[in-house]
Amino acid sequence: MATIFSESGETDSAGITLTASQMIEYLYCPRFTYFEYVLGIPQNEAKRFKVEKGRGVHETMKNRNPDYLRKRIGVISRESDVFLASSQGIRGIVDEILFLNDGTAAPLDYKYAEFKNDVFNTYRLQMVFYARLIKDNYNVPVNRSYIVYTRSKNKLVEVKIGDEEYEDLKKTIGEMLLIIQKNKYPKPTRSTKRCTDCCYKNICEKTV
Ligand code: SF4
Repeated sequence: MATIFSESGETDSAGITLTASQMIEYLYCPRFTYFEYVLGIPQNEAKRFKVEKGRGVHETMKNRNPDYLRKRIGVISRESDVFLASSQGIRGIVDEILFLNDGTAAPLDYKYAEFKNDVFNTYRLQMVFYARLIKDNYNVPVNRSYIVYTRSKNKLVEVKIGDEEYEDLKKTIGEMLLIIQKNKYPKPTRSTKRCTDCCYKNICEKTV
């Protein structure tokens, strides 16, 4: 049985497992989670929140330059496009799992995006999500992740993952499950500009 988290400790997810795409929706606006998964009203722009993939570049990178990763970050072996589910109530496909020469593992994800001097929080939490899946399935330490920005000449960026980041993930998953399981109506996004072209703006009292 999957386990989820609350302020006081652990609760039971009753078999619900969440994907990284669902988490990205929640981070955009928690009410998306409520409208879609409690009220059952589908988004008319569902594709907007699909996890961004490096389109064909993912395949090209995988096949063209395997030494690229080994040289730079000490990769011993790797697995690609791995579906994983965790007893922590999450599931998803990890682009690449890297097994490193220091005995740790790390997720690697390709983004069809430019690197602009910092990693978006959404990307960071998505990498923690994959790190958690790897930790729980392979029983190895995972303390960093890698993002390849395919629109910045395949720039490879390392993102550290520590206790604080794992706690953030725990809290976020717990908040999502409170909405879905307990029908908790969440606060709206703090970014009001997101409401302007929101597919739920006609039913959300934030804008009615
Ligand atoms: S209208 Fe604004 S607050 Fe309401 S669901 Fe859309 S983005 Fe969220």
